[in-house]
Amino acid sequence: MTVLELRNVTKTYGGFTAVDGVTLEVEQGKILSLLGPSGCGKTTTLRIIAGFVSPDAGSVRIGGDDVGKLKPYERNVGLLFQDYALFPHMTVSQNVAYGMRYRGTRAAAVPSRVEQMLSLVQLAGMETRYPNQLSGGQQQRVALARALATDPKVVLLDEPLSALDAKLRLELRLELKEILRIVGATTIVVTHDQEEALSLGDEVVVMHAGRIVQRGTPTEIYRTPADKFVAEFIGRSNWFQAVPGGEMNQSLNSYITEEGFEIRARAAQSNRSDAALCVRPEHIELFDGAAPEPTHDPEQNILAGMVLDVAPLGPDVHVVVELPGKRRLLAIRKNVGRNPGVVSGQPVRAYFQASD
Ligand code: ATP
Repeated sequence: MTVLELRNVTKTYGGFTAVDGVTLEVEQGKILSLLGPSGCGKTTTLRIIAGFVSPDAGSVRIGGDDVGKLKPYERNVGLLFQDYALFPHMTVSQNVAYGMRYRGTRAAAVPSRVEQMLSLVQLAGMETRYPNQLSGGQQQRVALARALATDPKVVLLDEPLSALDAKLRLELRLELKEILRIVGATTIVVTHDQEEALSLGDEVVVMHAGRIVQRGTPTEIYRTPADKFVAEFIGRSNWFQAVPGGEMNQSLNSYITEEGFEIRARAAQSNRSDAALCVRPEHIELFDGAAPEPTHDPEQNILAGMVLDVAPLGPDVHVVVELPGKRRLLAIRKNVGRNPGVVSGQPVRAYFQASD
């Protein structure tokens, strides 16, 4: 069942279009990540749903009803915004209860609901503290409890973890995901952090310059990016500018790059005379260039070069390979432990599959 529906929502400021014809739906109980670079219109989209910004065109439906004319507090949404801080003069309990009173929850029902919410976010026992007596992570948990307390139809989270340090952000991310699952919240979470978007969202919507450029599961967005912008925004990528060099069979195509390499790719043949080929660094395997070359598999690309740099980054090693023509290729070897397996100056062969 669709809980939230946006149709052709547009918002301009002066001559500038911040949100440009956004259409999206969120199903009951699903978490949708809205991801994109700064200024792409994520927050404006969220504020339109919440009712803080009115769109120039388009409609917003929550639970099937057009909410265009409703005030924010009439919309049955739970909000956790970056700048939507706790009330400093209220205790933890009072902060959590605030939205409920505002929405007309029966007074007798409030204390037990507050207790339930605080135990959900693991803050039982902190009822009488004030926000300035809590850590940043605890404050965000109170804000989450407040957002969920009214059992809203839609939960809107704007950069919910960005104010926290890296370690806490990771902990709270897992916790947040679990809590949203437990309550079955239909959620939109706005973030510019790709890892956060991919790990929290059942689906990810990538925005660019006010428009939705792709919607898909985290795997789809990573494996089959809609365009160069999405591919570069999610993960790392190596690019080759190329021209078609002929069709090998149904969807296996050969391309000749501007450096003169032949690269085979499984892709729909395009009629265009140019192509941009992308291979993820983690899909490139490196083998000793001195070893004899194996029999050639038509599905496999092999480029010979020399290791230029080896950078061990925790469990992964980033290897820069120099190909002929001073062309550089980044390969990432995952979980290689203490031995990166290659050294600078070593001749290597870089392998990657046509399907990658
Ligand atoms: P960030 O990740 O930096 O928060 P965002 O994707 O959430 O970015 P928005 O806050 O939605 O981006 O802003 C989209 C564009 O609209 C930006 O260029 C911003 O400057 C502009 N904008 C937003 N609100 C206003 C406003 N009230 N008046 C004028 N321009 C605005």
